[in-house]
Amino acid sequence: MTEAPVIHWFRRDLRLSDNTGLQAALDSSAPVVPLFIVDPALVASSRVGASRMSFLIEGLHALDEALQAHGTRLMIRQGEPAAVLRQVIETTEARAVYFNRDYTPFACRRDDELKDLLEIDVHAFDDVVLLPPGTVMKADGDPYVVYSPFMRQWKSIAKLGIVEGQRGQFYEVGAPAWWPETTWDGPLPPVSEDAAQQRLRTFMEGPVLSYQDKRNLLSADPFQDFDTSCLSPYLRLGLLSPRQAYWAARDAYELSNENVERRSIETWINELIWREFYIHIMAHFPHVDRYSFRRQYDTLQWRDAPDEFKAWQEGQTGYPVVDAAMRQLKTIGWLPNRARMIVASFLTKDLLIDWREGERHFMQWLIDGDPAANNGGWQWTAGTGTDAQPYFRIFNPVTQSAKFDPSGAYIRRWVPELGDLPDRYIHRPWKMDTPPSSYPPPIVDHGEARERTLAAYKAVEPAKD
Ligand SMILES: Cc1cc2nc3c(=O)[nH]c(=O)nc-3n(C[C@H](O)[C@H](O)[C@H](O)COP(=O)(O)OP(=O)(O)OC[C@H]3O[C@@H](n4cnc5c(N)ncnc54)[C@H](O)[C@@H]3O)c2cc1C
Repeated sequence: MTEAPVIHWFRRDLRLSDNTGLQAALDSSAPVVPLFIVDPALVASSRVGASRMSFLIEGLHALDEALQAHGTRLMIRQGEPAAVLRQVIETTEARAVYFNRDYTPFACRRDDELKDLLEIDVHAFDDVVLLPPGTVMKADGDPYVVYSPFMRQWKSIAKLGIVEGQRGQFYEVGAPAWWPETTWDGPLPPVSEDAAQQRLRTFMEGPVLSYQDKRNLLSADPFQDFDTSCLSPYLRLGLLSPRQAYWAARDAYELSNENVERRSIETWINELIWREFYIHIMAHFPHVDRYSFRRQYDTLQWRDAPDEFKAWQEGQTGYPVVDAAMRQLKTIGWLPNRARMIVASFLTKDLLIDWREGERHFMQWLIDGDPAANNGGWQWTAGTGTDAQPYFRIFNPVTQSAKFDPSGAYIRRWVPELGDLPDRYIHRPWKMDTPPSSYPPPIVDHGEARERTLAAYKAVEPAKD
């Protein structure tokens, strides 16, 4: 090989198909070095946990296998990214680096610094979203801070199609000398680009048509059933592109003649747009990463209650639906959206504990833990975010449980000590004459907690314009 290669630096785009940056590198006609860098600072971060690391490592193995069909292997290195890149540039004599942009404050800082540090060309591409930050703006040029108008504007803008398949060539890389190890012993869904495609296909062939009705139910087995797509971990690490997801949904829409089915597909597309919305919000308002979107809520008097926080983390609050969800999270690293809302509401509104504590716990345990979506979800629930649910709308955990787990199957599965409870007590075992001794009584009274929270939120000074 005589021509100087270029590097494609894989980050959250662990796939060969429909990969904008990779395709541009292949189109450059130079051989492409497929590189992944394990940054020890990220691995050690309190926002990363074993389950997502394990999903990532499995994803790297799958990528390595897919690359073997193209006569090469994944070059996998450990170290501070700029230092590793400089070293790989030196050993391969690469003339350019390609990657897909990420829009979190951390990634933007890292990538900006990198451009100054490297002495070769750096090419960055938009790929993580269908429409990148800056392209969905209000008429006055400001970013949207409310979802619905953002969604309408987003829908009115033409989207790029799927990026054409590979034509270029890869640089020959030897078998990786080192692989990061996983410490997660929980289950994972199948992790590969093919598995993501298969899941997308299966979902679009039928389940998406009943998504509208089923998406809030709690009791499905997420890795086996299809009440929702469970594509979030694949989208998070890019084993699936948002374009592939969106265009598959558009195709399903075109194939259907039924209004109800089309509405269901539209609802699913709207969820993909929530994903884009929160990525835009974090890009335009990087302070949300650490502070409330509505800055006045930074003065809210959260409670310091480590024992209650621990009870929440361990699924020992005495509220069965909360405990079922928190135990599911620690066992499989994933939760249905409704369960995320219920437990986030319980932490912030019933226990009055800072949303950032819950946000970090989710990042430690979720296989799909994503800075923007997670932050958006937590701030929405806490009432500190963009579209935030008003602070006086406080979920009642018993009502939520009865509505979204009517048979109690979810609770019985994840809180086995309540397995034999009669249906009428399953959502509130403390009402029994003799509640099961192996299960704790409620750590707070919901009614009293509600009043305490309303007072704390009311005490916040309104924003000054
Ligand atoms: C407190 C809280 C924390 C959350 N943390 C995360 C997180 O770390 N990572 C994450 O991907 N999602 C997060 N969400 C959003 C949502 O719960 C998950 O995206 C969804 O449950 C994933 O399941 P699914 O793939 O079956 O989604 P589906 O219902 O099939 O939706 C399809 C896709 O749309 C996107 N999506 C759906 N709902 C939302 C939403 N409300 N916000 C943003 N994107 C959405 C996801 O990429 C999802 O895969 C959070 C929500 C809340 C309330």
